[in-house]
Formats: sequence, structure tokens, C-alpha cells
Amino acid sequence: MADLYVDGEWRDPVAGGLREIRCPADGAHVATVSEATRADTELAIAAARRAFDEGPWPRTPERERGALLLRAADIIERDAKTFARAESLDTGKRVVESEYDIADVVSCFRYYGGIAGTDAGRVVDTGRDDAVSRVVYEPVGVCGLITPWNYPLLQASWKVAPALLAGNTIVLKPSELTPSTSVLLMRALEEAGLPAGAANLVLGAGPEAGGPLAEDPGVDMVSFTGGLETGRGIMAAAAATVKKVALELGGKNPNVVFADADFETAVDFALTAVFLHSGQVCSAGARLIVEDGLHDRLVDEVVRRARLIRLGGPFDPRAETGALISARHREKVEAYVAAGLAEGAVLRCGGERPADPALAGGHFYPPTVLDECRQDMRVVHEESFGPVLTVERFSGEDDAVRIANDTEYGLAGAVWTQDAGRAQRVARRLRHGTVWINDYHPYVPQAEWGGFGLSGVGRELGRTGLEEYREPKHIWQNIQPRPQRWFRG
Ligand code: NAD
Repeated sequence: MADLYVDGEWRDPVAGGLREIRCPADGAHVATVSEATRADTELAIAAARRAFDEGPWPRTPERERGALLLRAADIIERDAKTFARAESLDTGKRVVESEYDIADVVSCFRYYGGIAGTDAGRVVDTGRDDAVSRVVYEPVGVCGLITPWNYPLLQASWKVAPALLAGNTIVLKPSELTPSTSVLLMRALEEAGLPAGAANLVLGAGPEAGGPLAEDPGVDMVSFTGGLETGRGIMAAAAATVKKVALELGGKNPNVVFADADFETAVDFALTAVFLHSGQVCSAGARLIVEDGLHDRLVDEVVRRARLIRLGGPFDPRAETGALISARHREKVEAYVAAGLAEGAVLRCGGERPADPALAGGHFYPPTVLDECRQDMRVVHEESFGPVLTVERFSGEDDAVRIANDTEYGLAGAVWTQDAGRAQRVARRLRHGTVWINDYHPYVPQAEWGGFGLSGVGRELGRTGLEEYREPKHIWQNIQPRPQRWFRG
């Protein structure tokens, strides 16, 4: 096996555990991988600690670190088809989507490689001519990076690239459900010339393989993307050793459509917003919030088109979206739909596992629309993370903003209107980290990705993404040192 990467070596787990990876679309065996225990993660942390305290990486000039990221980007691009295939087999997502994801991974490494050495800190005016003062940036130290299964390599890249650029050493723990592309990433970093111990990889279940990354005093920072409850536990565990913590924890995102919106486009994007990757997207537009006068026409058309969406496996050219990640996850989605119906929602389409025998081996669930929803329903305010769209109505701008902000999360959202002033007003009033106007889902690596409320703390992407992984340090220098004679004698 030898797929744990520790101190520049490929190793088997200390306790020799194994895990079978099966494709969510048909249950086919994909790979047998190592199952690490705490002992493996502790070894990885010790390696990262040594590499940080004694190794060359933190002391390598930032431009050289950036050059390594650019080489890694070239390697990933060269092997993009292998990466995309592995990502699709683990996640069940269509291979064309995985190809987009891998292209985004390449862009992420190129972005951070490209900004290397462009920010040397700042000089601070001391108001005196016998001293100079400047602020420089230092790596945080050893970073534990814990990632989810929905966009496995992209989520990892958003952490790995800025963390390494800043001069940290890392231990990456991907979701136990989707380990394959993290193994390929470590191989790419190795080929690009990363020194031993600077990046380490452990594979395995969360509390066991991931737990030490939040607890071990050898880790300086833990960066986590995943579910709310897991994030709460990680923050609490990290408090004992006062680690720096970054959390990206999902959302329950409003997609607000005013009656004057361009109808065809709003319908089209309402579908993409929520059904892309079968709703397993943290920024999914799972709450459609529609102005009263447009409600019936818009929902009818969304439902008509939702019924046409074709489900299928990663390599089925006719498929438009894939399976859910696991049997357990599908049961969770089903429970949310059942709760919505029990609380009075009206089922307009979906809501039952597909009857097609060709899909019987996978965890498929159809696009589902629940109409006449209210903010107090669980399916409206909790994250189902599946292909479930809830529909609420509003009347006027204030009402739209009130309903859209009535969530404990605050990750993303959109507003649809042809009134340019209203678009900007509503966008400013939405308490969500990313707001799209007449669009849904695009992002650029240069812009921040963060959120309000329960969506987490910290920012990913862009220069502020890099800020997460480095600390400003103030350096004061007396340039005319001489006795001060504060005290006589
Ligand atoms: P999860 O919380 O179950 O797992 C995420 C990661 O944490 C996995 O690697 C898992 O093994 C690990 N983990 C679990 N328990 C742990 C523990 N006690 N200690 C250390 N590590 C532990 O989440 P998931 O099911 O993989 O992903 C789905 C969730 O992720 C959704 O809620 C979604 O909204 C969220 N998400 C958020 C964003 C974002 O940018 N905000 C992006 C993608 C996914």
C-alpha cells in the first residue's frame, strides 16, 4: 500500500489498517487504501515539526517556494486526466466536472506561485531618526489541514498552496471517503522537489487520524473545512493548546429572485445553484426566495426542468449529475425531505429514490423541489447538502433581505433583478460572505472566500487566504544604539 506520506517517505500505517474505497455511483471497488491511527498522525506531526524547526522549507526564499508551487501546477496539469478520473471514482461526480475542478486546482497553485515575493511587509514610521521599524510576515508553523469529500482536491489546494507558500510545514488529512487525489498531490509535490517533511499525508477516519491535528501541541494551526458539528469539536479541541483555527463550515444559501429578473436566466441558474453536484456544494443555492408575483410561473418552470435532469455515473456521457457520496448521506437527505413534508412543505418533484434499475447500485437521489416553505422548517434552516430546493415567497425588498438573512449561516447567496440600484443595495445588505448578482457559483482565486455566522472563521483564497497561514511580526531596530542612562550610576 505505502500511501501515507511522512517525512518524505511512502509508508504503511503503524497498525496496518486498510479501507476499501467504493464508487458512490455503482459500489464498484475503486481502491484499497491505508487506514491511519493516531500513532501515524503523531509521526506525521513530529516530521512536520522537525521540518519546520530544522528543515530548509521555512528558510527558503518565498520566490523559490512560489517556483515550486508553479512546478507542482505544471505537473498536475500534465496529469490532469489521471487526477480527474481518480476524483470521479471516489466522489461519483461526472468526469467533466472533475476536469473543471482539477483545472481550478492548477489555477490555485499558479495563483499562489505567482504572488510569491510580491509582499515584503511594510515599513512603519517611528517618528524618530535613531530607529527603524518594519512589519514582516512569518509562517505560523506546523499546520494541520483537514478537508471534506465534496471537492476533495480543490478544498485541499485552497489550504496546501497558501500554507506552503507562507513557509509552513503541513499534515494533510483528506476525507476518508475520497483519499485518492491527495495521494496524487503528494506525488506531484515530491516530483516538484518539496523537501522531506514539509508536506505529510495521513489517510483515515476523522476522530482517529484527524483528532491529533486539533489536539497535539506540536501543531500550531488547524484549518478545517467540513460540517458544523465537526468544526465545533475541532475548535474546542484546539482551545486546549490555543492553536490558530480556520473553519469553513457550510451554508444555507439564499437565491433571491425579484419579479423583474430575466426569467430564462433566473430559472436556469436556480437549477445550477442547487442541483450542481447533486447539491453537495457548501455554497449551493438551496433556498429559492421568490417575489410573490413571479412565484407560480418561476416554480412551475424550475420544476419542469428539474424533472428532466438526468442522473448517472461519472463516465455516462448523458448524465447531468451524479450520486450522493454515501448511503448514510442519502438517508440524511431523505430525512430532511420527510421533515419538510411533515412540517407542511408541498412536494413538487423528486422526493423518492429513482426507479431506474441502472441506478440501483448507487446512492442516487433525484432533484427535489419543496414549495410553500417557511423559515421555521428544519429543511429550510439546516443544511441537507443534497439536491433539495426549498421555495419561500417575499413581498418587497425589505422582506427579501429579512428572509434571506434569516439563517445562522452566512456563506453565499445571490440576487436576481434588472434594477441595477436594487441589485447593489440588496447585495450590500445580505450578510453572506459571497454575493452574486444575476449569477451563481463563479469564484476567482484572487477574491476572498469566507462567511458570517456559523459558516466559519477565517478566509480562504486571495491574499487574505495567504494571511491565514502567516503572522505579521513587528521588527524594531535601534539604529543608533548607545547608553540610555535612564538610571544614574
Ligand atoms: P465532516 O465534518 O464529516 O468531515 C470533514 C473532515 O473532517 C473529514 O476529513 C473528516 O474525516 C474529518 N473529521 C471528522 N471528525 C473529525 C474529528 N473529530 N477530528 C478531526 N477531523 C475530523 O464533513 P463532510 O461530511 O466531509 O463534508 C460535508 C460538510 O462540509 C458540509 O457540511 C459542507 O457544508 C461542508 N463544506 C464546507 C465548505 C466551505 O467552504 N464552507 C466547503 C465544502 C464542504
